Amino acid sequence: MSSAIEMTLTQLRDALAAGAVSSVEATRAYLDAIAARDGTIRAYTQVFAERALERAAAADAARAAGRPGGLLAGVPVSIKDNMCTDYGRTTCASRMLEHFAAPYTATAVRRLEDAGAIVLGKTNMDEFAMGSSTENSRLQQTTNPWDPARVPGGSSGGAAASVAGRLCAGALGSDTGGSIRLPAALCGCVGLKPTYGRVSRYGLVAFASSLDQIGPLTRTVADAALLTEVLCGHDPLDSTSVAQPAPACLAELETPVDGLRVGLVREWVSDRLDPQTHQAVDRAVGALSDQGARIVEVSLPHSRIDVGRDGALSSYAVACYYIVATAEASSNLARYDGVHYGHRTAEAGEDIVEMVSRSRAQAFGDEVKQRIMLGTYTLSSGYYDAYYLKALKVRRLIAGDFHRAFEQVDVLLGPTSPEPAFAIGAKTADPLTMYLTDVFTLSTNLAGLPAISLPAGLSREGLPLAVQLQGPVFQEPRLLRAARMIERALDLGAMIPPCVKGLPS
Ligand code: GLN
Repeated sequence: MSSAIEMTLTQLRDALAAGAVSSVEATRAYLDAIAARDGTIRAYTQVFAERALERAAAADAARAAGRPGGLLAGVPVSIKDNMCTDYGRTTCASRMLEHFAAPYTATAVRRLEDAGAIVLGKTNMDEFAMGSSTENSRLQQTTNPWDPARVPGGSSGGAAASVAGRLCAGALGSDTGGSIRLPAALCGCVGLKPTYGRVSRYGLVAFASSLDQIGPLTRTVADAALLTEVLCGHDPLDSTSVAQPAPACLAELETPVDGLRVGLVREWVSDRLDPQTHQAVDRAVGALSDQGARIVEVSLPHSRIDVGRDGALSSYAVACYYIVATAEASSNLARYDGVHYGHRTAEAGEDIVEMVSRSRAQAFGDEVKQRIMLGTYTLSSGYYDAYYLKALKVRRLIAGDFHRAFEQVDVLLGPTSPEPAFAIGAKTADPLTMYLTDVFTLSTNLAGLPAISLPAGLSREGLPLAVQLQGPVFQEPRLLRAARMIERALDLGAMIPPCVKGLPS
């Protein structure tokens, strides 16, 4: 029998249900893996070893007493450190919230725990989820399990590294502009960003409320389907949560979508794309067309990438996102004033204004400060119309392009990331270069659509390559079925990084 760590989440769940392995064994195995490998990977900001083992023992005891529990009974998972839990800390990888103990648990985490999942710990991220590489964490640098000199992607870099490094069976991340899909792509995992409103945001520390969604990072498409099914559903505690039952994601997963119409975005899949990433997209195209899918070229004109005379890249989607997201962030982060929430300066000040400004100056990192200033600027009187209002109009145009594309096709296929994982430090000096990392992911959030990233091979350097599928609102089951068609045909095996020794590749 293979060890608990080798099993996918779905396999582990079945093995637990069959009594072939106990939850305590599985949890211990993951805690041992964390002790062995997380010194280098640094995926976890906190590990709840004692709590996890207690709950695992309770799951085993309940099963032995004839109460098998929910869909995830006894399965060890990780959660991103921007989801509130009434145990441990909720830090957002920020000095501002380093000691923050939330009084309640996020609905998404609760749903997982109600289904029986065992939370092993919380994972590292860019501070307040602002970033694409996890280099903006103020707590630690997470490394890519495929190469410790490279970034894991971000902002859910800890989540992706915990899955790829076999430090949990599955993870929760959050995606505002690509933060689930990008790290999933760079670490060789599957990452799904649900339709806006599908998963409750209650208890997710807000970055940009009109864009944020929680979703799963896993080893396989089936694992993502299982977690999506558990996560989705109406929550009266989140006014943007849609009143629809959770979709059945697993039931039809193995049934290929008949006559699937796949759109290739002309503006994205061009000769300007990194050649190895292009080949990965071609492989996925081949896999789908071999199974009877029809490939059609479509256009998303407002999500195109322009090349300036100086060779610099630009995109309406990136510009629009960085106005909308920073405007919302500047408002959401106003609560961290050292009074309502967060770090309070120890230095004596003249008045409350000085106290608040010192507290914020000390506790926020540079990227967060930059975004608060940018967002405050674009919302200020005189600039609101020129920037924020205009960005909202561009957002509508971007969403309209997707709407038209989905009149012709069922899903869109393209790259997730412009390139495989880059070296730590390679993009930190130039924020614009870093922002362009999200050029293929953030228009999905602006349009509120679901999308999934999945592995599509390895680069010559041995780094994961990925493709992304996007779909119309509420079509998570279709996306997962199409992703499964690619996964089955490419047959990449377990995508195990070199640092995970002793497991078959
Ligand atoms: N990289 C993007 C940003 O920095 C998206 C982050 C996210 O999805 N949380 O805003």
